[in-house]
Amino acid sequence: MEKIDTAVIGGGAVGLAIASALAEKGKDLFLFEKNPYLGDEQSGRNSGVIHAGLYYRDYPLKKKLCVEGNSMLYAFCEKNNVPFSRTGKFIVAVNAEEDKMIDRYIDNACDSGAEGVKRVSPEYVRAKEPNVNVYSALISPSTGIVEAAAYIKCLELIARGKGVEVMASTKVTGITAGGAGFIVEIEEKGRKEEFTTEKLINSAGLYSDEIANMINSENAYEIIPVRGEYYCFDSSLRSELAMNGANVYPVQKPYFIDGVRHLAIGIHLTPVFDIAPGGRKIIGKKILVGPTSRAVSEKDDLEKGRSGQECFYEGVREFFPGIKAEDLKMDYAGNRAKLKGDKDFIIERDSRYSGAVNLVGIESPGLTASLAIAEFVKNILTK
Ligand SMILES: Cc1cc2nc3c(=O)[nH]c(=O)nc-3n(C[C@H](O)[C@H](O)[C@H](O)COP(=O)(O)OP(=O)(O)OC[C@H]3O[C@@H](n4cnc5c(N)ncnc54)[C@H](O)[C@@H]3O)c2cc1C
Repeated sequence: MEKIDTAVIGGGAVGLAIASALAEKGKDLFLFEKNPYLGDEQSGRNSGVIHAGLYYRDYPLKKKLCVEGNSMLYAFCEKNNVPFSRTGKFIVAVNAEEDKMIDRYIDNACDSGAEGVKRVSPEYVRAKEPNVNVYSALISPSTGIVEAAAYIKCLELIARGKGVEVMASTKVTGITAGGAGFIVEIEEKGRKEEFTTEKLINSAGLYSDEIANMINSENAYEIIPVRGEYYCFDSSLRSELAMNGANVYPVQKPYFIDGVRHLAIGIHLTPVFDIAPGGRKIIGKKILVGPTSRAVSEKDDLEKGRSGQECFYEGVREFFPGIKAEDLKMDYAGNRAKLKGDKDFIIERDSRYSGAVNLVGIESPGLTASLAIAEFVKNILTK
């Protein structure tokens, strides 16, 4: 049985960032990813928005790690040539009732330290995005977008460069805790193997509850998969669809899981990167519309009962009145790892086996926060 120092479970943005942060010369660090491609679950199926930290007042860890992660991610992208853009974001209210939320977001921004967030007039919004029609709005200049696939690839290359053994198509099927560490059972293309490891990082996203339970059967976290579906449109189709590259969000909308109220970020408009002549990535003509928020019963169910055009049309028509349902084309979907209840990120040593760190409920803003989460985990392990 091979003996290693650290095993990271999960090859999404968070697992890869943690693996890079913990990699040390002379120490064996293995990362296990069950899928053939890295980042094929939440990390590659999101809006790619670099959040500023406007929504997390009641969630201290999300708030702290989002704000820290925001500037770390911009710096990382700049240094490593990962496509990103400081698009800025408008949150728009369409009536007086929704307008109250704008004040709340501005308070939240003061509380979290999100930079430059302020009210702007409908005329200001129209001067930037002429097809957006609003009652009132705020601007968040430090919101942006990153090309998630390029970010994942870059994290992988850095991790491998630091000596991390990245093992794709390798599923962790069992964990036995005890003694000085853990025995990790893996299955790779039908072949079973075991490793012993001193430290174990559970960054398994949608499956982090199941991995936490393998580590310690007393762990009773429950992840509810909440599907986010996207449609898209081509902003060059008609002049009423043209956009100038901002993110445009409605105020949050409530939805319920088992009677518990949650606030969805709302079906929003996000620009997507395209390749310019010469190979440079620029903001293109495609605009993503979504995501929806609906609990589903299976963690890997991305397609059953997908919503139709009408749902996305209804989501944006009040603030983007030039759109027609038939402009919208179906795009991808992703399931969020939502912890049951309405909770903050959980990032802590296992209550019984302190060599393990569980990361559970790493939903949005987990992509934004990934580099800050990695530093947070490193600090936990050095304490
Ligand atoms: C629809 C949607 C929109 C979002 N929008 C944004 C956004 O705009 N901005 C933002 O900051 N965040 C956003 N998020 C959240 C963000 O995508 C996640 O928080 C982040 O990607 C989490 O990364 P992760 O590495 O923890 O999880 P994941 O990317 O889910 O990675 C976990 C990995 O663990 C692997 N794994 C699981 N079990 C095992 C096992 N037994 N053995 C081996 N491997 C295993 C999985 O295959 C998976 O690849 C969004 C998420 C969704 C779904």
